[in-house]
Amino acid sequence: MADVIRAGLHMLRMKQSERNSPDELALRQEESLARLCAYASAHVPHYRKAGLRFRSMDDLALLPFSTKESLRSNPDSFLSDSFRGRPLEKISTSGSTGMPVSVFQDGRESDMKLALEYHQLTECGVRPLQRQAHHTYYRLEPRFAQKLGLFRREYLSFYDDDSVNLKKLRRMSPDVLHGYPSYLAPIALTNMQGNYGVRVAKVFSSAELLSDASRKIIASSFGCDLRDFYGSTETSWIAWQCERGSMHIHSDSIIVEIIGPDGEPLPHGKFGEVVLTPLWKRVMPFIRYRIGDRAALGGQCRCGRNTQTLLPIQGRNDDFIVLPSGKVRSPRFVDLCLRPVPEIRLYQAFQPEPGRLQLRIVPSGTLGRGAQQKIMRNLKKSLSEDMKISIEIVDDLPRGRSGKIQSVVSKVKPDFGMGGADG
Ligand SMILES: [Zn+2]
Repeated sequence: MADVIRAGLHMLRMKQSERNSPDELALRQEESLARLCAYASAHVPHYRKAGLRFRSMDDLALLPFSTKESLRSNPDSFLSDSFRGRPLEKISTSGSTGMPVSVFQDGRESDMKLALEYHQLTECGVRPLQRQAHHTYYRLEPRFAQKLGLFRREYLSFYDDDSVNLKKLRRMSPDVLHGYPSYLAPIALTNMQGNYGVRVAKVFSSAELLSDASRKIIASSFGCDLRDFYGSTETSWIAWQCERGSMHIHSDSIIVEIIGPDGEPLPHGKFGEVVLTPLWKRVMPFIRYRIGDRAALGGQCRCGRNTQTLLPIQGRNDDFIVLPSGKVRSPRFVDLCLRPVPEIRLYQAFQPEPGRLQLRIVPSGTLGRGAQQKIMRNLKKSLSEDMKISIEIVDDLPRGRSGKIQSVVSKVKPDFGMGGADG
């Protein structure tokens, strides 16, 4: 019960604060960051060693960066000594680099994450009792609020064929659908081509770049109000899209900086690397964390909310897998089959022509013949059509503009019938 009250109170505070003046918001950020720096210097080995001097916002750009590499090489040093030995929840990132990192949180921090989610959902017009269908490769244990029927989630199966999930959606008749754009676009296409007639009032995409082609097909197939959410496992929700299309940053809870190649902050409108400081995290604080996405700060939105905004995020931008039949599959299937294999450090699937897929793998140790055959079998099974799959062991893989490795690179463009390929 306490989690519902806590999440509800956080949410009310967020609703008030986004209407505060930009000066008030900046002042709150400064106070929260001063508290976070004092806490991290005292309790978190990584920051104790780095040394944090923070007196005012002018010092922000002088604080040291933290990176995924430092987290991966020494995750313990990010854990606060006040939480050692206490029961904590572990979450692993869904990075397409094949090198997931794990972060920890306690119950209070899960409540805060829920509050951020409920805040953005309700701002987008979702009501607590509406039916929500989720298509994600993980399933979360229902929290107390969800057991009461508030913001309850129903799940589609990631492994089922689009037609099976469309029939399920028709039965469920949800008001809201959540998913990754690379999954939502193919299912939207099947919905139109197979005349399933599934309509959903609101669709929320997250975790991947939402391209214009995907946006068009999803919106027209489901006849929906489509909004994008931006978040990460390490920092939780960062920004959400309002009715005017602006990506509003949760400015009360997170500081977003955009930096250039020299590490210096960039002015509004200039695209650069995204650097994040969630202000509420204490179990595993992240200060000036380089997440590996690219974006630019936008101007003030005219919707009445005064929080900062972001221009479109240039994050992971994968290609689709096109099956021999012409059906389209999400690149996340490659992640699902390859990510859990401990002998794989990095991977990328290359599709040179329909029906063929070349897996390029940088192993972390020895990837034996038996393991290779198992990977190919699993992938063939989850793609559900007969593809010729081969494995090539390589020393390194090319990184995209954002510094991330695409899971799938394809020479075969899917036919979305909307005047242009995706990507
Ligand atoms: Zn707005």
